[in-house]
Amino acid sequence: MLSCDDVSRLLFDYISEDLPTEDRDLIEAHLLKCLACRSLVDSYRAVIRLASELPAKPVPPSLLDNLRRAAKEHDSDVHRSDPGPA
Ligand SMILES: [Zn+2]
Repeated sequence: MLSCDDVSRLLFDYISEDLPTEDRDLIEAHLLKCLACRSLVDSYRAVIRLASELPAKPVPPSLLDNLRRAAKEHDSDVHRSDPGPA
């Protein structure tokens, strides 16, 4: 059985489909049981997809603005829900 460390070490090869079948099977067995590693695989794949799309489709500045605004709103939400003295 692989540990999460083993999986994260092999993850890039797994995603690039550079692993021998035995190793891939081991990782897939781990992914079935481990939500953390599964979301790691998902985010790796998303990043790789974004990176491969980047030259064709640069991120529009308005999207960056939206992201920054969303991050700021998230911050103030965190502060507002902070249970201070009543
Ligand atoms: Zn894991």
